[in-house]
Amino acid sequence: MDDHKQQIAHFEQTCRAHGLKMTHQRLEIFHALVHSSEHPSAETLYSMLEKRMPTLSLDTVYRTLATFVDLGLVKRVETLGSKARFEAKIDQHHHFFCDRCGQLTDFTWQSFDASQLPETVQELGRVRDKNVILHGVCNQCLKAKE
Ligand SMILES: [Zn+2]
Ligand SMILES: [Zn+2]
Repeated sequence: MDDHKQQIAHFEQTCRAHGLKMTHQRLEIFHALVHSSEHPSAETLYSMLEKRMPTLSLDTVYRTLATFVDLGLVKRVETLGSKARFEAKIDQHHHFFCDRCGQLTDFTWQSFDASQLPETVQELGRVRDKNVILHGVCNQCLKAKE
């Protein structure tokens, strides 16, 4: 099974386990996320799908994404300077955000993941997620400037 098929299978299993009906709209939204590496926002997903699904509303996209995030099927990436973005890639990774074009690029950082948090952080409470968003300018935008 390739990664995408495995993700879809996991998605169907999780929905069934939570009694969530496998509607056409839910499936299409999840498919779109699985096949995109762009970390689309709800608005982007909506404009990708509305032509094929004229009954889809932006509100449905919002609500469906919120449900997927609750079930741990989808990750929400918060960035400064752009709307919340979503992805179906749920394994541990970090993001590089281009302040100029808004592109989010995945990267892994094993030594960071394995590192201990400073004591000052541990005193603040319980940490659920250890994700980094780096801000900068991507190579394409740097080249375009020259
Ligand atoms: Zn850029
Ligand atoms: Zn990502």
